[in-house]
Amino acid sequence: MKPIFCYQVPVVVGSGISGAAVAMMNPEVVIYDKGKSFGGRVSSKTKDSFSYDFGATMFRDQMEVRWLGGETKYSILEIWKSKQIQLPVNPIYDKSHFYPTKGMADLVSAMMGQVKPIQGHHLKKIEVADEETWNLEFDHSETKERETVCSHSVILTLPIPQILEIFNRSKDNPKLQKWKTFLEPFNDYRKTLVSYFYWDKWKPNWEALGLNPSSLIPISTSLERGTDWEYQSWESIKYPNEFEDGSALLVQFGVIFSESHFEDWMDQNKNPTNKYKDYLIRELKEKFNAPPPNLIWNHKWKYAQAQLPLLGREGALQLDLPSFDEWKNLCKETRITILGDWLFGSKIERIIGGIYFLNHNALL
Ligand SMILES: Cc1cc2nc3c(=O)[nH]c(=O)nc-3n(C[C@H](O)[C@H](O)[C@H](O)COP(=O)(O)OP(=O)(O)OC[C@H]3O[C@@H](n4cnc5c(N)ncnc54)[C@H](O)[C@@H]3O)c2cc1C
Repeated sequence: MKPIFCYQVPVVVGSGISGAAVAMMNPEVVIYDKGKSFGGRVSSKTKDSFSYDFGATMFRDQMEVRWLGGETKYSILEIWKSKQIQLPVNPIYDKSHFYPTKGMADLVSAMMGQVKPIQGHHLKKIEVADEETWNLEFDHSETKERETVCSHSVILTLPIPQILEIFNRSKDNPKLQKWKTFLEPFNDYRKTLVSYFYWDKWKPNWEALGLNPSSLIPISTSLERGTDWEYQSWESIKYPNEFEDGSALLVQFGVIFSESHFEDWMDQNKNPTNKYKDYLIRELKEKFNAPPPNLIWNHKWKYAQAQLPLLGREGALQLDLPSFDEWKNLCKETRITILGDWLFGSKIERIIGGIYFLNHNALL
């Protein structure tokens, strides 16, 4: 693999919220991503002039970091203000949760700023060029050609199973080997199946659902952990201008349901397979007395959430752990930095606040 180009700046792989947070802190970086569009698990889809979120649906403004025995609180809205990021948001659920008024993907786009990710580039291999340089080999989805670039600093933000696939495909190397050993305990992700339902002329009985769309801070979601229809988000409450007479519901299914139905959940166009179409329509009738929706769109997230994040799942990011020192040393020694929800925990504010903190303290 001969590089066609050598970057003098860090190359980031992944244009999700982790990649966007890196771009916000260092607009010099170059970002590659395999997808058609940026956002990763913070994505919105636009259809018939309305947009809807099919990954993350909201974020918490506050996050905390525990380091050198002390705890510091951060506000994501304040971080954005300090970086001159303009992002209109509305409160939702309670006083500390928000969503961007133009859809969750707007959050990623605002943080990217001037950095325009290079999409449609699938990283296949990462190999040593010399002691201080890595070659990155991409498959270009449009031209079907291989493109190799090189850089002295690489930042990977993909889920760990996808990183290990790349490392295993690459020529063996002691630095990659060290990372493989280090990452193994964090290789556990849950799957999540998703359905999006749209009705052009039907709304549910909000009161019966315990939701009040017209309150100052509307509650739009319900969560019943462990159930099949685990998380329900009435997206039409978030984007009321787009739903005068109709409504839209996003359902994120529970872990057991998602594991059991993952393989034949949808066809290539993201339509539910017949078996699931009937099931979904039946359940909508039973749960909400809903007519068959005008649109059902299915999606599946193979690596939805890291299960055992290094810095903890909830509460303050725990930077006093010996494993965090190991992570820092590996990043320095290998010139590969690995970020993402496996490190910070699977919450937007933890990732943004975490990357901000690392950068501010010269740890990134
Ligand atoms: C259904 C769902 C609902 C969620 N709800 C919430 C919520 O409401 N609030 C909240 O705070 N968090 C939520 N989360 C968690 C949150 O979305 C994630 O923790 C966060 O988005 C992870 O961002 P990331 O940038 O680290 O990873 P990703 O978003 O996964 O980004 C990684 C990127 O890498 C790219 N990529 C992968 N492999 C390659 C390759 N080989 N070459 C090039 N590019 C590659 C992908 O295309 C992707 O864009 C939810 C997650 C899911 C799945």
